[in-house]
Amino acid sequence: MNALIDRFGRHIEYLRLSVTDRCDLRCAYCIPEGFKGFEEPEHWLNFDEIERLLGVFAGLGLKRVRFTGGEPLLRRDVVGLCARVATLPGIEDLSLSTNATQLAHMATDLRRAGVTRLNVSLDSLRAERVARINGRDVLDRVLAGLDAARGAGFAPIKLNMVVMRENADEIDAMVDYCMTHGFVLRLIEVMPMGDTARRMGYVDLQPVKARLRERYGLVDTLLPGGGPARYLGSRDGRFTVGFITPISQHFCDTCNRVRLTVDGVLHLCLGQEERMDFRTLMRAGASDDDLRAAILQAIDLKPERHEFTEAPHKLVRFMNMTGG
Ligand code: SAM
Repeated sequence: MNALIDRFGRHIEYLRLSVTDRCDLRCAYCIPEGFKGFEEPEHWLNFDEIERLLGVFAGLGLKRVRFTGGEPLLRRDVVGLCARVATLPGIEDLSLSTNATQLAHMATDLRRAGVTRLNVSLDSLRAERVARINGRDVLDRVLAGLDAARGAGFAPIKLNMVVMRENADEIDAMVDYCMTHGFVLRLIEVMPMGDTARRMGYVDLQPVKARLRERYGLVDTLLPGGGPARYLGSRDGRFTVGFITPISQHFCDTCNRVRLTVDGVLHLCLGQEERMDFRTLMRAGASDDDLRAAILQAIDLKPERHEFTEAPHKLVRFMNMTGG
């Protein structure tokens, strides 16, 4: 039974856990170059605290967890943490979002530790463009990581492309690449998280969706995962492309998720400020009953929707801090 039901009747069964706010890339829309606001390591939840808190969540109805960040594969012994979370009673699905720079040597261990699904970020197939958008020349490493993930048996592998003015001309190349390699492509509208993201040049994905539907003869498709993407697929079922459109068509009425930052703060919405600090609670000696009560109280705070369109300057939090 799920006790995690908010004021708007939404069942919260999915938690995105930022296991670190550090990253080896500097994607222009995410962490600005020179960013200095990283969380102090002594504030990071340790593995025992994470396991305990997620265990209490799972007892209340949480079913799915995704590790994100920052770059989750940079957290020391993240594979060990995966194994602990994957075996928590009630957790049915453990997935991970990664930039894949470390994936070539970690894919097999992650799979063995119980990670079921992988999302990999890739905004361009051109090395110089990756260097510019993502701040480091890592295309070869990312492609090697994708190869390793396939070799380790991850399926489906979803490839996340944030679409902005600079890479919009590569959408068809990315579709062809994903068709050839058997990846699910997801196109994402850039969200106004901080000034740099706001400068990236928003591209409305609705016309792109209509064009791809026509060009590749795609039809509406559903994909398990419970996320916000709306999918189109080829008639033979071999290719799928998802559209994550927080700006042109928001999906707040079906939002089933909350986000826990590396320092133990639960954010009830990516685009709003409602939050609850579980690190302070746990370190002050809260019992499991106290945690249960606090979780239910927090779920009650979940706002109806974000306001990226009406108030694009409202949010001063960068994506690496909340966990994208
Ligand atoms: N480092 C991991 C990765 O690269 O996937 C996980 C963290 S990253 C913050 C998660 C996702 O958020 C990535 O797909 C990234 O492209 C996306 N993202 C970051 N900032 C964004 C923004 N302003 N708008 C839309 N997507 C964003």
